[in-house]
Parts: sequence; structure tokens; C-alpha cells
Amino acid sequence: MRRKLVVANRKMNGSLSSNKAFLEGLLAGTHDYPNADYSVCMPHPYLFQAEAMLKGSPITWGGQNMSRYESGAYTGSVSPGMIKEFGCEYVIIGHSERRQRGHDTDHSIGERFEVATKVGLKPIFCMGETLEEYEEGITDVVTIRQLNAVIAEIGVKGLANGVLAYEPVWAIGTGKAASPEHAQNILSFLRGHIELLDADIAESIRILYGGSVKADNAAKLFSMPDIDGGLVGGASLNTDEFVAICQAA
Ligand code: PGA
Repeated sequence: MRRKLVVANRKMNGSLSSNKAFLEGLLAGTHDYPNADYSVCMPHPYLFQAEAMLKGSPITWGGQNMSRYESGAYTGSVSPGMIKEFGCEYVIIGHSERRQRGHDTDHSIGERFEVATKVGLKPIFCMGETLEEYEEGITDVVTIRQLNAVIAEIGVKGLANGVLAYEPVWAIGTGKAASPEHAQNILSFLRGHIELLDADIAESIRILYGGSVKADNAAKLFSMPDIDGGLVGGASLNTDEFVAICQAA
């Protein structure tokens, strides 16, 4: 039985004071809901704050991106080791906003998966098709290409060190979540693909759904057999709403 995982992707939002209120609310609101795992991915400058406030609690925290290099002349970049030093459990890699605007490629995301696990971070690896690709009916082709690029880098067993997230680009930040049935179909397809390579990994790996997860659709999405939780952007900016999503898991 896979434990559900709900992850806040706060994106480039927050401040010391608003983060404090959010984390306090989250600690209080999840206290009586110990049956799922919760994590908060913060902008890098606030990782120290997440560590200070969440250390010793069941809630983990993580980064939203990282360099694939250990150190060096990469102005403005943050290394996996630096993120790990602030106690992070997770790091999001391959988010579509990074693929589209940060020029991350299938290959460089595969490399990131590997270097993250080397320093003990668990990558939350995002895949998903654009609206055009969805309308063309090639969601399966696109997500398998993205997944295979990571497997080529780390091997199927390496997937065990991370979490997968299916995030259709057309559902991110649009308020138009994929239907639970569509999300379930794709997740079951991805799990089936992994199963052909390694049945144990397929059974144990957590695959999240992301894209306009809200308090009013979370329970239905999370009730699907292959949806192991959610990666939540916009709705994680409202403490009450994010807490309700956590409670739905
Ligand atoms: P959203 O974002 O919940 O605002 O759609 C999800 C994500 O980008 O991870």
C-alpha cells in the first residue's frame, strides 16, 4: 500500500511573514491527519525558514529546482548539495515552467535526477504534455519519452529514489484540472510501462497528479487507484485550501 503524498509547489511566492503563517497553519491543520505525507517546496532563500519551522515535525520540505553541477562558475544557480544542507527531503525537477522557460531538456533532467539522489535528495520528477500534444492525442508518447530519458540515465531501479508527477501543462494554473479518469488512465499507463521493466518498482513508486488540484477536486482525484497524491501550485498559496487538500489525502 503506497502512502499518499501531498506536495506544495509554492513557486516564486511568499515572504518571511506569509511563509510563517502558512507553515504554522499547515502544522496545525495536518496534526490530526497522520495517514499521509506532506511536503512544502519553497523558493531557495526560504529553505532555512522551512527547516527552522518544520524540523522535528512530520512535514518535510524541498527545493523547486537545482543545478545539475556540484559547484563552479554558474552565476545564480543552486547546487544539489546546497539544497541538501538545508535539510530538504525533496527537489522538484523537470517542471514544465523550467522546461519551457529554463531550457531544461529531457537529458539534463535525467542528469538532475541522478545528481539529486547522489546527495540524498528525492527528486519529484515532473512529466506532462502541452495542450497541443494533448489535442493531438499523443500524451502517452510524450510522457513515455520524458520518463525514458530519466530511466536511460539512472536505470529503472533508480526511480525508487524519487517520486513521479504527471502534470499536464494545460492543467497547470488554468483552473482546468484533468478529469480523475484521464489522470488515472495516464498514471496507470506510466505504471504499466515501469512494470514491464521492474514489477517491484512499479508497485512501490509514488506517482502524483498535478495541475489545478483544489480543495473541491482533491478527494476524487486521490480516490483513483494509481494517483498517490498531488503536486499543488496555486492552491498551496491559500493555507486553508491547502490544508483541506492535505486532509483529503
Ligand atoms: P497549479 O500548479 O496547482 O497551480 O496548477 C501545479 C504545479 O505547477 O505544480
